[in-house]
Amino acid sequence: MSSASHYSLRPIAIAHTPFAEKFAIPRQPSLAPSVQGELELLPPYDDARAVAGLEQVSHIWLTFVFHQTLTNHDKPHLQVRPPRLGGNEKLGVFASRATHRPNNLGLSVVELLEVRPGRLLVGGLDLLDGTPIVDIRPYVPYADHITTAKNDIAAAPPPLIRVDFSPTAEQQAQQHGARLAQPLQQVITQCLAQDPKPAYQNPTPEREYGVQLWDLNVVWHYPSPERICVLRLEPVS
Ligand code: SAM
Repeated sequence: MSSASHYSLRPIAIAHTPFAEKFAIPRQPSLAPSVQGELELLPPYDDARAVAGLEQVSHIWLTFVFHQTLTNHDKPHLQVRPPRLGGNEKLGVFASRATHRPNNLGLSVVELLEVRPGRLLVGGLDLLDGTPIVDIRPYVPYADHITTAKNDIAAAPPPLIRVDFSPTAEQQAQQHGARLAQPLQQVITQCLAQDPKPAYQNPTPEREYGVQLWDLNVVWHYPSPERICVLRLEPVS
């Protein structure tokens, strides 16, 4: 449906990523550069003509739909509580990159690794598996890289915490990494170094956390609050 005040969007691609759930997805794509995924272009954009020239581009902007946090237009979020501010402080929705947005649109710049017929291989992703992509544009360094830009709310990347692997987890990461053809240990380290647990939780060493990456459940604990140890990788049943 389209009228002067309403527009409809149609996906032009679907993202295939390691992330089956929102937990532990990096908050921005550049925070986990090793995370690779594919964009499956949908008809009619799966035609080679739609991506002609794109092989000359190193990075692309993805406009996508936050399809798992669709906002109810009758209950608009004017303010959000960004996790970066501890989840308590409020900020205007337009001052934040929160997922609850007026039109549910997200914007990520990712590395373009390969252009294949009907598929783009990309690196550095913060998208759930199955995310609908509604537009793809080339990153234009002279226009998009603003050297004088500042943002005092998010002046620097979030602090990282140390991530270790148990001998079992390290061996499993090597085996499954070879099977999936992915730098699995690096991906897990980059995702968990953001410390995905809620900011208010003070984890005890006995408590185990888990997240699904590809077809694996990655299990870790906090030997101390500022350190993660990956315990094991289990196939998701
Ligand atoms: N880079 C984008 C932006 O600035 O618009 C996304 C930033 S948002 C803070 C990133 C988070 O969105 C991820 O950590 C994940 O939890 C969530 N997310 C990713 N894909 C999603 C989807 N399809 N639906 C809902 N939430 C999603």
